[in-house]
Amino acid sequence: MHISPHLLLTAYILLMHSLTTAMWLIGGRWMGLSRRAAAEWMRASIANGAALLVTVTEGGTHSSLQVMLACTLAVLGAASLRRGLLSFLRMPHTTSDFVRLVAGMAAFNLLLCAPLGWPSLGIFASCLVMVALLLKCARETHAAIAREFRPGTALASSVVLCATALVFTLTSVAVLMGQTGAQALLPPLEVRQVALVFVTAVLSIVVAFVQGYIVVMRLVNRLQHLSQHDSLTGLLNRRAIEQCLAREAHRLQRFNEPFSVLLVDIDHFKRINDLLGHAAGDEVLRQVAQTLADQAREVDRVARYGGEEFCVLLPHTEHEGAVQAAERLRAAVHGREITWHDETLGVTISTGVACATDPTEPMDALLRRADDALYRAKAQGRNRVEVADPLAA
Ligand code: GH3
Ligand code: MG
Ligand code: MG
Repeated sequence: MHISPHLLLTAYILLMHSLTTAMWLIGGRWMGLSRRAAAEWMRASIANGAALLVTVTEGGTHSSLQVMLACTLAVLGAASLRRGLLSFLRMPHTTSDFVRLVAGMAAFNLLLCAPLGWPSLGIFASCLVMVALLLKCARETHAAIAREFRPGTALASSVVLCATALVFTLTSVAVLMGQTGAQALLPPLEVRQVALVFVTAVLSIVVAFVQGYIVVMRLVNRLQHLSQHDSLTGLLNRRAIEQCLAREAHRLQRFNEPFSVLLVDIDHFKRINDLLGHAAGDEVLRQVAQTLADQAREVDRVARYGGEEFCVLLPHTEHEGAVQAAERLRAAVHGREITWHDETLGVTISTGVACATDPTEPMDALLRRADDALYRAKAQGRNRVEVADPLAA
């Protein structure tokens, strides 16, 4: 049985673009993933698929109208791809610019070039517009993708966009050569058409893969953030600080690098809840958390350990440094004026400090020592720092 290349290409384009369109429909509409970007990318997928289907014809001959329709759809695809990426990265873009560009290109191609029989001019202009769109998109999104994901992800995205721009640059060069009589230097028209359709179809799949990857990675990053942070204060949560403590304990065992732990508890916090309500209590928690985070060094880890209790991990810090840090935090909270409606609240903290210097001490024993010191700070009048007894030999 003989299957024509035309039929194979048509089946390939239909299959691939149906898959990418379905991916954005399911991901965006049903699963609610990056809804607006997914809608743009679905439009890009449909427009690019339709442009390719219009381009693939038996024998490689096209009417001017067909060629101009394919070019207009391709411009719509490239503009939607860029719009989706800008929307995904929450970068500024306007609908009026998008509409003006696509409508202008449609009018130029379909109302001017097609009836006058100037398809080459239409192809050339459309290719230039797409090259400009794709390069602009690569340039404006690179830094934002690198910031949110990894430099490698930004590089992959830019390379794919630039490769697509290169294909359209070559197409416009071929059109120019055709017009200037240098046609003999080019491969036969049908070969060029099949190559163009095949390469752009492959590239649109690669683009969809990069888009799918960043959408999934954003979801993974969000879930990871949620699983490690406290929603009220934005600090690390107990699970995350316990992981940090375990890592620090490991370093102590391996490199004999000591560290310290502060257990911080807000004094008479229940009174704030009882007198001013739970919302005031939440605001105090947020502000104390902010003060602790502001005062900590970059290498320190601050977590909400439970209710109104915080845990601060001070890597590479021994007794004296830890006490200094704890005093600094205590003074900062004491000195901060926390306002609730028209009232100014005086909030203080008590802190238990424990230094980890013995690699054989289990983590729960270290935390128990810090907790005992905290208990003593409370018993001795609050708003103070107490240091844990050294580990019994
Ligand atoms: P002390 O000085 O001895 O630490 O006294 P305290 O009142 O701070 O301690 P206590 O353990 O009696 O009270 C802690 C209160 O913290 C009880 C609980 O209702 C409140 N709490 C725990 N989590 C939250 C929270 O997320 N928001 C608010 N508003 N209150 C919370
Ligand atoms: Mg308390
Ligand atoms: Mg407490």
